[in-house]
Amino acid sequence: MTGGISLSNIAIVLDHTRYPENIGAAARAMHNMGISRLAVVKPENPDPIRIRKMATHAAAVVVEKMELFDDLEKALSDFNYVVGTTARLGGRRIFAYSPSTLAEKLIPISRENRIAIVFGPEDRGLSNEDIRLCHTLVNIPTAEFSSLNLAQAVMVICYEIFLAAREEKIPFVPRLASRHELEGMYDQLKEILVRISFINPENPDYWMNNLRHFFNRLPLRAKEVRIIRGICRQIDWYGKKCHQDAR
Ligand code: SAH
Repeated sequence: MTGGISLSNIAIVLDHTRYPENIGAAARAMHNMGISRLAVVKPENPDPIRIRKMATHAAAVVVEKMELFDDLEKALSDFNYVVGTTARLGGRRIFAYSPSTLAEKLIPISRENRIAIVFGPEDRGLSNEDIRLCHTLVNIPTAEFSSLNLAQAVMVICYEIFLAAREEKIPFVPRLASRHELEGMYDQLKEILVRISFINPENPDYWMNNLRHFFNRLPLRAKEVRIIRGICRQIDWYGKKCHQDAR
C-alpha cells in the first residue's frame, strides 16, 4: 500500500443517470483508475447490454458488483465523507474544490473513512437537496461551457484521485461519523431546537442548513456526534424537569 489515497475506500455514486451508456463508460473510467465500488441510484434505464457495451470486458467486474439503490440518502448512509460534483457554481454552491485540491484533501481522510463521490443526472445535475448530503463540493474548471459529459467528469475526478493514490504523505484523520449517524444527529438537533424555540417551526430546514454548513467545515467524528446527541438528550430532560417542577 502507498501513502496516498486508499482507493479501496473510494466509491462512485451515480444519481438518477439517464443513459445506460454513461454508466458503462463511468465503470470503465473507474476501472482504468483502480476504483471498483460503483453505486447507482434509480437509473432511468439500467439496460445491462447497453451498460456492458460501454464498460467493455475489462470493466465488467465493476458492473457485476454495482450496487443499486432507490434513493440517494440510503446509498450514502454508510459513507463517512461525501463529495458532490457540480458543473454550476454560485448560490448555495459557494465553494468547490478543484479536482487536484480535492484529491490532496482526501488523502488523510481515506485512511480510515469510506468516501463517496456523487454525480448528478445528465440533464439537471445534483439538486440542492442532494447537495445538502455532501460534506464538500468539487468542480472541474472549464471554458465557458461548464457541463461535461457525465462519464468524462467521472474520468477527470478518478484520474486525480488515482494520481493522489501514488503520493507518500499521510497525515492521520480518525473515523468520521457516517451519513446515517449525521442524519440522526440533525433530526435530533432540529427537534430540540424547535422545542426550545431557537428555530422557527414554520421553516426549520432553512435554519438547519446553516448548521449543516457549519458542521461540514469540520467533519465530525462518530464520537463527537454521540456527544452532541447526549447534550440534546440532556437539554430535553432538563426542560421536562423544569416544566414538572413548575407545576
Ligand atoms: N446541466 C447540469 C450538468 C449535468 S452533467 C448542470 O448544469 O448542473 C452531469 C453530471 O456530470 C453533473 O451532475 C456532475 O456530476 C458531472 N459534471 C459535469 N460537468 C462537471 C463539471 N464541470 N464539474 C464537476 N462535475 C461535472
